Amino acid sequence: MTPRLRSCLLVHYHEISLKAGHRPLFLRHLRRNLERATLDLQPVKVVQLPGRLMLDLGGNPNPEAVRGRVSRVCGVANLALAQRVPSTLEALKAAVGRMIEGRQFESFRITARRAFKTYPLTSTELNQVLGTFVLERVRTRVDLEHPALTIHVEVLPSEAFVYFDREPGPGGLPVGSSGTVVSLLSGGIDSPVAAWRMMKRGCRVEFVHFHSVPYLPPTSQQKARALVGQLTQWQFFSRLCLVPFGEIQREVVLAVPPPARVVVYRRLMVRIAEALAGASGAQALVTGESLGQVASQTLQNLARIDEAAALPILRPLIGMDKLEITAQARALGTFEISIEPDQDCCTLFVPKHPATRMTPDELRGLEERLDLPALVRAGTEGAVVETFEFPPGTGPFPASRGARASRTEGEPLSQ
Ligand code: ATP
Ligand code: MG
Repeated sequence: MTPRLRSCLLVHYHEISLKAGHRPLFLRHLRRNLERATLDLQPVKVVQLPGRLMLDLGGNPNPEAVRGRVSRVCGVANLALAQRVPSTLEALKAAVGRMIEGRQFESFRITARRAFKTYPLTSTELNQVLGTFVLERVRTRVDLEHPALTIHVEVLPSEAFVYFDREPGPGGLPVGSSGTVVSLLSGGIDSPVAAWRMMKRGCRVEFVHFHSVPYLPPTSQQKARALVGQLTQWQFFSRLCLVPFGEIQREVVLAVPPPARVVVYRRLMVRIAEALAGASGAQALVTGESLGQVASQTLQNLARIDEAAALPILRPLIGMDKLEITAQARALGTFEISIEPDQDCCTLFVPKHPATRMTPDELRGLEERLDLPALVRAGTEGAVVETFEFPPGTGPFPASRGARASRTEGEPLSQ
């Protein structure tokens, strides 16, 4: 009798399985994120199995859409649309038979795994028996090294799973499991990639963008919105804080000679971001700086920027070159947004030859000419918060946090 095939999405994790003591906590985050990612694609039931998670897609009209969503859930090492069958050899053969029906493939291999050792056949025996079964039905050959088709079989005590292709997920840790960070998001290529890399390390990311409206057109804000919209697919809910910076830059221009301005701007950005981060419980700031990429990103300047912050400044791109960063931006879908022409606030009043080595004393002397607390206040009080959610219409995440207002003036990042 041909068994009824029931489809599901099988999710494997890697790093989480290394977390001996805290694995249940990380898995709770992963489950919750999988549920949120598929909230509008019901029915989907997330089930915890030994060593993996299974999304039961019984009755789901669009398994492909579920697959697309899960491919962006951090913590997922790989995923596969699979068929669920009883773990008996007969059922496995019948399922494999159904799945290869009408297919042509010049070579194949069976990759069987048992999640429990009391199963009557070893993995090698399963490979052999099922391999022979395929060879009896299709004109093909076994190729263990470069098979045209890999038939995966995973046997658990309760049931077994059969699937062909599996694709990599983002890997890393589930968003929310490592705490909150504040990303300084320009409209450029680098900072969105930096923010995403922190999501992949389990961070929830809040965004701060400095703009120069009315001195410059609002293009940079639109780019920041589009970038946050794109990145929200990985963390489901985001806040973007838009901070007016043009007036602050004018004050700096009046008091600070051109070569020192970039570092002074950056130190002000860091102070304002930190003030805004206070209420969100963020434990670090994130920038897209990469060592030596531009004159302002020397070791000395990075040290001077660090000295303006009480929170650690994380720079996940520090050792990456522009080609690597660009490839990542393309894969994330942020590159096309980032390269749209615009005049970022840092192109306003920016010197041709920024200083590459400044001492703490030099900077202190220059900043004494500014009313730093007033400038930080101007930034925080003028800030406007916008919120983004994914899938659309699903509200804040985690559910208990904050209201759904989309614009809130002069408030900290989180309430
Ligand atoms: P990016 O591509 O991220 O803009 P970049 O190579 O152009 O980086 P800089 O312009 O020197 O480098 O900026 C360094 C970092 O400072 C950025 O990655 C970002 O984190 C932060 N930053 C710069 N401008 C802004 C801005 N307008 N708003 C928020 N953060 C900014
Ligand atoms: Mg930039």
